[in-house]
Amino acid sequence: MNDFALLIDGALVPGSTELPVIDPATEQTFSAVPAASPEQLDRAVAAAGAAHPSWAATPVDERRRIVSQIADTIAQHRQELAGILVREQGKPLAAAFGEVDTAVEYIRYFAGLTLEPEVIDDSELRRVEIHRVPVGVIGIIVPWNFPLLLLAFKLPAALLAGNTMVVKPAPTTPAATLHLGRLIADIVPAGVVNIVSGGPELGPHLSAHPGLQKVSLTGSTETGKKVMAAAAERLTRVTLELGGNDPAIVLPDVDVDEVAEKVFNAAFGNSGQICRAIKRIYVHADLYDRFCDALAARAANAIVGNGMEPGTQFGPVQNQAQFDRIKEILADAETAGKVMPGGGVVDGPGYFVRPTIVRDIDESSRLVVEEQFGPVVPVMPYTDIDDVVARANDSEFGLAASVWSTDIDAATAIAHRISAGTVWVNKHSDRTPDVPIAGAKQSGIGTELGVLGLLEYTQIKVINVARQ
Ligand code: NAD
Repeated sequence: MNDFALLIDGALVPGSTELPVIDPATEQTFSAVPAASPEQLDRAVAAAGAAHPSWAATPVDERRRIVSQIADTIAQHRQELAGILVREQGKPLAAAFGEVDTAVEYIRYFAGLTLEPEVIDDSELRRVEIHRVPVGVIGIIVPWNFPLLLLAFKLPAALLAGNTMVVKPAPTTPAATLHLGRLIADIVPAGVVNIVSGGPELGPHLSAHPGLQKVSLTGSTETGKKVMAAAAERLTRVTLELGGNDPAIVLPDVDVDEVAEKVFNAAFGNSGQICRAIKRIYVHADLYDRFCDALAARAANAIVGNGMEPGTQFGPVQNQAQFDRIKEILADAETAGKVMPGGGVVDGPGYFVRPTIVRDIDESSRLVVEEQFGPVVPVMPYTDIDDVVARANDSEFGLAASVWSTDIDAATAIAHRISAGTVWVNKHSDRTPDVPIAGAKQSGIGTELGVLGLLEYTQIKVINVARQ
């Protein structure tokens, strides 16, 4: 398949060069996609700027109709989109269908929201209304772990609120997003949604572009800092959803098998490549050996393979650079801790790493301190609650966390002591479109999803009328 095109000003156009897309399960090129030149990026931003006044003036119900139509179109084409996702991202086909269907659900959620003005004073003296007007042209930058779902956090909210946009997928997973561009090219007015793909240089060009009024990035903390620095030049608005190193704290009263199953799934889903995956597991010393064994047994039984093969539970790491990084972190963990049987790197081809449990690890090692973003997870014992809360909070990240116990009140009290944007009790990674998400500390700035997520794509405008 090689019908991928950029979407610029309503037209499907080739790039100035081409970019290979590697299937991480085979390391073979699955397709080539267009790479936009700097001039094409300029044209995309200019088209979004030119389209903005009329899109902002389009009645919200008409914008809603178009957002709904995008959802319907994705739903109609779920088969081909899921197939592309497996080939470029690596995830199992069932998970790819899940991603496409969840993207549809999220887009429909935003299509159902309203943006009514709020009247805060209606007296003899004055009438004061707060209106929510669009911000302008938005740069939407997405990573490689959930190319379509993470776009569905941003695009429908930005559109409904009356913004126009330039979307940039990750260099290693551009194909499903470009295919989406082909599907919606006739639905959305020209210039309202532009989609450009390219190599690593394209993101910095986009985020520093003077034609943008806002950048919405999901990516690593390192990239978030660069985007914020570039935005400082013109006070371009930013929403940054960044990295995490989520701790899970397991109290001594849990059922080991039941909780180990849930913790395992929340740590290794999408092969650990989820921002809100469990990335550090703290288990009370009374259960530590049994809990480690229960996790390792699940790791040993995991079916790892090509996402297109029926039965595959875990696909490869998505790209060569991340594969190399995971191998380095694992090599370091082999000296800093004890790698339990059943895990480790699989001989190629393909960037495969089995779900891997590391116990008795030095907590200053890379696997504990850094965001590994892959299928290798440390398990650490504790005896004292104050101590484990301090260790869980001892991180530059603050994305999410979870506490596991049969005593809900005790677990909830601990949840209040964790510095994170979301803390779950007896679950992890529960996410629905109406519940806002936000990172504490260096995990982000701003909010996505829910009504708060919609408001991030608006600017307050106060109309204050004298009555005397
Ligand atoms: P990344 O930061 O390397 O890249 C993300 C996107 O930013 C890509 O499209 C990339 O091309 C672009 N980019 C890179 N440098 C840029 C720059 N200087 N200016 C503008 N754009 C630039 O992240 P990744 O490796 O693709 O994704 C993994 C990271 O994303 C992890 O840290 C993960 O936790 C994070 N993530 C966060 C969330 C969240 O909601 N908080 C969700 C998913 C992933």
